[in-house]
Amino acid sequence: MTTYFRPNIDAMTGYVPGEQPKFDTPIIKLNTNENPYPPSPAAIAVLQQLSGESLRRYPDPYANEFRQAVSAALDIPMDWVIVGNGSDDVLNVIIRACAEPNRNVVYPAPTYVLYRTLTELQPAATIEIPYGDDYQLPIAELIAANGAVTFIASPNSPSGHVVPIDALRQLAAALTGVLVVDEAYVDFAEETALNLVKEFNNVIVTRTLSKGYSLAGLRLGFGIANPTLLSGLFKVKDSYNIDAIACLVGAAAMRDQDYKNLCAAKVKASRAQLAIDLKQLGFHLWDSQTNFLLAQPPKSNAEQIYLSLKERGILVRYFNQADLSDKLRITVGTDEQNQSLIEALLHLV
Ligand SMILES: *Cc1c(COP(=O)(O)O)cnc(C)c1O
Repeated sequence: MTTYFRPNIDAMTGYVPGEQPKFDTPIIKLNTNENPYPPSPAAIAVLQQLSGESLRRYPDPYANEFRQAVSAALDIPMDWVIVGNGSDDVLNVIIRACAEPNRNVVYPAPTYVLYRTLTELQPAATIEIPYGDDYQLPIAELIAANGAVTFIASPNSPSGHVVPIDALRQLAAALTGVLVVDEAYVDFAEETALNLVKEFNNVIVTRTLSKGYSLAGLRLGFGIANPTLLSGLFKVKDSYNIDAIACLVGAAAMRDQDYKNLCAAKVKASRAQLAIDLKQLGFHLWDSQTNFLLAQPPKSNAEQIYLSLKERGILVRYFNQADLSDKLRITVGTDEQNQSLIEALLHLV
């Protein structure tokens, strides 16, 4: 059969996102780590005031209004911020800027599957280094692999664990390539690696408004690093990767740190209760500093539970891959949603 595609496109499987049912289906959606609470009222107010005129022109290619809001919220200079159409876009820009044949992309696994997908689009290879069951960072192997790009999600998905700052510091000091610390879930965690960007020229921290700020549909994320590292990334990103709506609505959400922190506190309290309830049902859990729990059912019938929950209108995430096929990743919902999950599980474990 003839193909129109490059060999690596034919060979790859493509990313499989979590199921996104229509809005009007009465489903409890605990499969893609969305925040169960609405976005900041201040952000919604900005959205409702947008005029047609604000869409007539091209948007600001640097999204400076949003960068200013990030600068104020995180106390870093504005020119240390690069903005993306979701943090996925920033991850993609880093790979496109740095990876090529013999300049590999390295990460410990299991982790965010998109690192692999984005690399497979390029003429570049991935080196996956397995985490053990205890999710200790395999530092020596990561250093030996010496990637052009090394990704560490911290907190990690789907394990929920945080990589200690000292381990990240050791890694940053030893690597000659770029170290990306993906902090998509930092809003639910106790610590951040953000200070490492000031210590090391090769570190970039990425963040998103999709999880902590309840704005997954807006597609807005950003990276923080020194301006020299960012200068190469600015050459690679699309000029207008952030639309005018995302820039203004995202800026309002970023300025409303109190609201974000309030929602995160509710999620963390619900996470603690959900963990207690799941343990009582016999699940094995890993400590989570995210808005989800990795849970291993007592009889290791994870796929069966996933399918039965789906029949009952509850979606959780099942990963059909060797190191995860006996586990479920469950997003923390509202207390009411979590309670419905627990009631459904009573019949299934
Ligand atoms: C959700 C997630 C992201 C990306 O989110 P965007 O919606 O593209 O901003 C990045 N990394 C990890 C580990 C995630 O779970």
